[in-house]
Amino acid sequence: MSTSDPVPSDDALDAARLDPARLQAVRDTGLLDTPPEESFDRLTRLATMLLEVPATFVSLVDAERDFYKSAVGFGEPLASERELKGRTFCHFALLSPRPLLLDDVLVLPGLAAVPTVRTLGVRAYAGVPLVTPDGQILGSFCAVDMQPRQWTERDVAVLTELAHATLREITLRQALVRLAEANRLLAEEMHKVGVLNERLSELAHTDALTGLYNRRAYDQELAREWRRVQRNGAALSVLLIDADHFKSINDQHGHAVGDQVLQALAALIQRSAREIDVAARIGGEEFAVLLSDTGATSALNVAERIRSQIAQSDTMPVTGVTVSIGVATLAAEESAASLQHRADQALYMAKSQGRNRVVSAPG
Ligand code: GH3
Ligand code: MG
Ligand code: MG
Repeated sequence: MSTSDPVPSDDALDAARLDPARLQAVRDTGLLDTPPEESFDRLTRLATMLLEVPATFVSLVDAERDFYKSAVGFGEPLASERELKGRTFCHFALLSPRPLLLDDVLVLPGLAAVPTVRTLGVRAYAGVPLVTPDGQILGSFCAVDMQPRQWTERDVAVLTELAHATLREITLRQALVRLAEANRLLAEEMHKVGVLNERLSELAHTDALTGLYNRRAYDQELAREWRRVQRNGAALSVLLIDADHFKSINDQHGHAVGDQVLQALAALIQRSAREIDVAARIGGEEFAVLLSDTGATSALNVAERIRSQIAQSDTMPVTGVTVSIGVATLAAEESAASLQHRADQALYMAKSQGRNRVVSAPG
């Protein structure tokens, strides 16, 4: 449209402005009600200089107002409010993707009634529509003059270039927002995977029946403790605990009760072990405790305490449950496997000496 064309009807202008797909595209810019930004202001300033006009702006036409992402050359209240309500020339630019050039708005009565003619003193208007790749017109990149002006081809070319740059800025920002959102989702997913992995590793290291460490975790902990001792020379002891005549407990009371006995044994052993100690179920009815920083005498005491607590326990599902315990303390230059082997031998001795007893492996 130009000054010589017929003025469109209010209905046509409103239909274009209120088109839902267009309004959605405007909101999708993410620019409504955002503060001024140098990347947009630079383009409007450039337009002001190149066209030598008093004012230029980037308007986004929302449902009930035009929002000015950038506006240079206007005084208050537009400069701080950054929006105008009511009919504006930018609404006319929504009707066609071609530039809207109005050399003298007073020539046509329909245009002279646009409020900005009175409020801002606008006399000439040139607007290049901001058209998205989907063909939606968001608003326009505009220049205005306060006196009649014959817009030149060069004016239009400059405004068209700057409108393109503005649109590029808008789509770039949208891409950045989408990228940030994708990154946020990714971080969220990674966190979930991390939590799952932690849980899996927990499961992989935990005995399902008793909640103690399993054999695999015990072996890892033993190796870790052994390496620590090689560095700091601390003491390290191992207890191997085996339920006595467990087969007959199963035979007499059933497997389910046998399981409950194993759980009760685990709870007692766990309670006797200090927090830093590792308590594990390393076989059917066989448990192990790793005692860090613990020498032979203390280890023997811990073992004896565990044995007697089990023998005297009144929380067992069946009476008469006892354990035999083999104790071994790491000797100089000894391997972890050898330590474990000696504890096993001590346990064997405890069994053969009559059970319900603690035997220390010879040093
Ligand atoms: P000992 O005093 O010589 O250790 O005799 P024991 O009967 O305890 O030893 P043995 O190795 O002959 O039998 C171990 C029994 O433990 C056999 C097996 O059925 C039982 N057992 C192993 N794992 C489980 C389990 O998870 N639940 C139950 N209820 N029983 C188990
Ligand atoms: Mg046994
Ligand atoms: Mg056994």
